[in-house]
Amino acid sequence: MKKYRKEVVWSIVLFVVMTSVGLLYQNYMQKQQIAIFEEQTLKDNVSLLHTVINGLNRQSDTIFSIKINQAQVLRVMSEADAVKNRDALRKQLYDLLQPTYELLKDAGIRQLHFHLPGNISFLRFHKPKKYGDSLKGVRYSIDLVNKTKKVVRGFEEGRIFNGFRNVYPLFYAEKFVGTVEISFSIRAIAQILSREENSFHGLLIEKRLVNTKVWSENHKYYLPSALSAKYLWDKKALDTLYKTDEDAQKAKLRSVEKILSKKTVKMFSSEEDFLLPFAYENKNYIAIFHVLRNVAHEKVGYIVSFKESRFFKQLHRHREINLALMLGLNFFWALLLFLFLKKEHDIKEMLQTKSNYDPLTNLLNRRGFEIAYKALSQTHERGQRPFSLLFVDIDLFKKINDTYGHDVGDLVLKHLAELLRSALRSSDIVARWGGEEFVILLNDADVVKAKDVAEKLRLMIEENRHEELPHFTISVGVAQAQDNVAFEGVLKHADEALYRAKESGRNRVVVY
Ligand code: GH3
Ligand code: MG
Ligand code: MG
Repeated sequence: MKKYRKEVVWSIVLFVVMTSVGLLYQNYMQKQQIAIFEEQTLKDNVSLLHTVINGLNRQSDTIFSIKINQAQVLRVMSEADAVKNRDALRKQLYDLLQPTYELLKDAGIRQLHFHLPGNISFLRFHKPKKYGDSLKGVRYSIDLVNKTKKVVRGFEEGRIFNGFRNVYPLFYAEKFVGTVEISFSIRAIAQILSREENSFHGLLIEKRLVNTKVWSENHKYYLPSALSAKYLWDKKALDTLYKTDEDAQKAKLRSVEKILSKKTVKMFSSEEDFLLPFAYENKNYIAIFHVLRNVAHEKVGYIVSFKESRFFKQLHRHREINLALMLGLNFFWALLLFLFLKKEHDIKEMLQTKSNYDPLTNLLNRRGFEIAYKALSQTHERGQRPFSLLFVDIDLFKKINDTYGHDVGDLVLKHLAELLRSALRSSDIVARWGGEEFVILLNDADVVKAKDVAEKLRLMIEENRHEELPHFTISVGVAQAQDNVAFEGVLKHADEALYRAKESGRNRVVVY
């Protein structure tokens, strides 16, 4: 192999270049695929969330019109607005709607909260002993309803919980008498979404909001997240995850958070939804982070969904298959290149070996010619290009020897070799076959072209005059190399043609 070092290096270079280009292309294609997948998945996620939230809003509207927007309720609110001591009225409202509230809780609705005009808490069904506090500046949605007297919907943080709010204005005898809020928690959404197998949904809320809006006694409803110190998990939503084997699930969430935290820290600074793939316990998942905005359209957190997904698993498998195919194919091309270069190397080396040369004329000898012929005919088998053989013999050479002496005969042979070499292309192979006989392999020449060349050589010798050497002529036999005809066969054809040239008077060209 040391002998073919250069050829090996070139083959490796080819392999490396093709593999690099292939990898770049594959990466590019996969990035495209991932981008399409992410865009579609994020879109699907948004429409799923909207569908669920709209469904819950509808439910809230129905409850409002059937159970709350009733004369009895509205009268209590109207009276409460007018008096100082409202305890009796509060009790009356509580008794009136307590059974309804129990039903609402089952339906995933957490808050039923009445407020007087001016945004004063009148009755929280989820915490009936807490009332009278002003929600001004805390609950933007209620402020807005006080102002616009129209229904306001959306996510909002609260004194206790966060939730998706539906705040309705209340009118009694066409007079604005306060507002009521029907809210469902992120937990209600998570429960619906979790019906999809192997998925989990939670809420990350900004810690800053919890610290400023939520009463400290209720901070226990929030848990820190390893994803970022900026956000807290809504614990009630996590309960859907913890319903079975709480400790194991908590540990699971922690390890998933650890996997994701490197990426999320950066992504959290963006204002857009994002998706992160991850593998956990031999399964492939995606984590979808949907930006949650409050009624005032400020980003307050994320609805986070973990779902099993086969997309990335398949992508990885495709990648492996493509890689294997590409490496195999590139290896094949590199091997082909190596074999080609090796052949070139062998020919070159052969041409440099002394034993393949004739010492008198410096042309290839018979042995050298046979090697060169075989190497060339293999290349030609692939390329399907014609090539021809000329058999050249000096006419009546014996006479020259006899007349001028053997040394002059040698000089004539040398002279002829020089003339032939100088008249032919470098790609043609000239050899001394023996005695005063020469063979010429014409590369890329059919029999017609070969005949022309032979005639040109014959004429050149005929017209050649040398100051010190006797005049001489040559006869040439021409044959074209053919498929299925071995070297010996072609040579025999050329020899036969030469014989006929001699027979018919010498100094001529005959084609087989
Ligand atoms: P023809 O036109 O039929 O070819 O006649 P010819 O005389 O050329 O053919 P023949 O084969 O009878 O003679 C070839 C002669 O070439 C015989 C041999 O002495 C001579 N010869 C062979 N090798 C050498 C060599 O290396 N040097 C010299 N000077 N003569 C050689
Ligand atoms: Mg002869
Ligand atoms: Mg001769």
